[in-house]
Amino acid sequence: MVVILLGPPGVGKGTQAVRLIDSVGGEHISTGDLLREACRDGTDLGLEAQGFMDKGELVPDLLILDLIRDHLSTTDSETSIVFDGFPRTIAQAEGLDGVLLDVARGVSEVVVFEAPEDELIKRLSGRRSCTDCGAVFNLHFDPPTSEGECGRCSGPLVQRSDDQPDTVKNRLRVYESQTAPLIKHYSSHPASLKHVSAVQPVNDVQLAFRAALGIGLTV
Ligand code: AMP
Repeated sequence: MVVILLGPPGVGKGTQAVRLIDSVGGEHISTGDLLREACRDGTDLGLEAQGFMDKGELVPDLLILDLIRDHLSTTDSETSIVFDGFPRTIAQAEGLDGVLLDVARGVSEVVVFEAPEDELIKRLSGRRSCTDCGAVFNLHFDPPTSEGECGRCSGPLVQRSDDQPDTVKNRLRVYESQTAPLIKHYSSHPASLKHVSAVQPVNDVQLAFRAALGIGLTV
């Protein structure tokens, strides 16, 4: 199974990817997480990507496709993969088809998560993550019990620099202009395309997501 999660920033793709992998196994590949790790490690990729990320712009396709190609070269061809935040442009989608074809695989499902813009802005502006364990909280929906402190490991909670209001607005604009066209692209692709409303409690989103993949209804 090779699944692509599409949808605007803040819609909850990462949360659903982690839940799915926890229950059915496989690999969660988030290009955002890989890029943030490269930035923290100060690699050449991280240094090139940082400026784009700070402004909420997309990192160039060639850098992203190299990152994916490298990553998939270490992935067993039987392993299920859930892509989160990738592809984000038509060129990336076409590049992914080529990379997968080389290992006799293809995208099997594309799931589009949907939520209105005011909800996304609220979610992104309230998001805080732990610098130690990576746990994610939301000041509006899932507040930490002690302010500024991770409820799981007591590490410090910070706001991602690209979750600041101006950058959030730009990320949503970039999604509409460069990534949303992928929905039409995948409607004429052999992969199955499903839509899931993300405006419901997180367990219900998970149930709808699993139903879209046809993999059973238990959470
Ligand atoms: P995310 O964590 O998926 O919201 O990604 C954070 C930032 O990383 C984005 O705003 C982009 O600057 C960059 N990024 C992540 N994935 C991609 C991608 N597939 N293509 C281009 N840029 C990306």
